[in-house]
Parts: sequence; structure tokens; C-alpha cells
Amino acid sequence: MAHAVKHHPGIPLLEQYVEGTLEADIALAVAAHIDLCPHCQQLCLDLAAEQGLLLEQSAPPPEQQLSDDMDAMLAEIMAQPQLDSRELPHQLSPVQVQLRDKTFTVPRALARLVGQHTKWTQLGSIANAKLPAGDKRHVSLLYIDKDTAIPQHTHKGLEITLVLSGRIVDEQGSYGVGDLLINTPDDTHSPRTLPNEDCLCLSVLSAPLQFNKGITRLLNPLQHLFY
Ligand SMILES: [Zn+2]
Repeated sequence: MAHAVKHHPGIPLLEQYVEGTLEADIALAVAAHIDLCPHCQQLCLDLAAEQGLLLEQSAPPPEQQLSDDMDAMLAEIMAQPQLDSRELPHQLSPVQVQLRDKTFTVPRALARLVGQHTKWTQLGSIANAKLPAGDKRHVSLLYIDKDTAIPQHTHKGLEITLVLSGRIVDEQGSYGVGDLLINTPDDTHSPRTLPNEDCLCLSVLSAPLQFNKGITRLLNPLQHLFY
């Protein structure tokens, strides 16, 4: 694998993901990250096995036969070989999205949301395609052309960004394919792309971005583009 993922959701989010208690829009971003991250794939298997064990302890099956079945099932889970990235289904049948003359491959987790009907709205060197997801939040694909800065902004809500192609940098760091950025209302940043590399992200927003600098009249369309 060419790029090692550095920014992960972290154990608490993965635990909720495995339990199935994570809200749908956030779970979508986490699932797409997991598709791109062998490290978190393994963590999820471990957490699932752990939760299976906890389940068995808290609710012992009444009959020995059932218990044996459970043991066999757990043994099977534990015996699963480490996921090999070469065998990931999304790499067997990649999902692709078009933006003008460009074709991007996106994680399997986004397959049912991305297709030929994906409609882009473009503003200068930034383009956004709303995805048919999101009960509480806005879920979209965000394309940023090379050498582009997004004006500094804060977040009225949660902003989750997953890099799907290329790289973005902000005041906190540099993020490549698979890296997950989670920004809260406390965070201010001005992300930008590198001089010679464009970027495609998955963006999950629970509230509009709030731009801090520049002329509001000019930034308003940008705000609408994102949200
Ligand atoms: Zn990860």
C-alpha cells in the first residue's frame, strides 16, 4: 500500500460503529475510512470479537448445545485471517465517480450513494456533489482543484472530512487518502490543496461553515456550495 493512513476515527467511534449505535451519517464516514484503512479493519474485527465475548458472559445460553454453538462461532470469528487489503471487495469491483474528464475510485461504503446521477455544482476551483444520505447532516463529495485554499472558517457543528484522493493540508497537519479529519465548533482552519495535486473528499457537515475573513457577499455562495 502506497500510503499509510495516519488519522483514524479512534477506538470510541469504532466501538460505537461495531455496536451499531453510531449515527448513520457519521457511520458512513467511518465505514468509508475502514474500507481504506487495514489498521481499523483489524481493530473492528478485534472489537467485534470482544463484544461477542461480552455478550456471551452477560447472557449465558441455557443449553449446553447452544453454548457449544456459540463457542464454535466465536472460534470461527477469532480464526478469521487478518483482512488482506488485496482481497477487499471494493478493489475487486471499484466504484467510480466522474467529474468532467476525471474519474475517481471511491470506497465500497459509498457505492449505493455514488453513481451516474451524481450531480456536481461548481464554484471556481471547488465542486460539490450532494449525496442522497444524511438524515441530520449534509453528506457530499467535495472536489478541490490543485493549489486552492478554502477560506478560513469555523464550524457551527461537526465537520467530518475523509480524503478519498490526493491530499489536503491545514494548520493542524497534512492529510492523505484514508485520513479522517474531525472538526468541532472549537476548531478554526483554512484547508488547502498542494500546488500540483487536486483532492477529492467525503464531507459530512451538521451545520453550515462559518467563514471568518473576506467579504460575506462573496463567501455566501461558497457557504451554499458546502451546505
Ligand atoms: Zn484507521
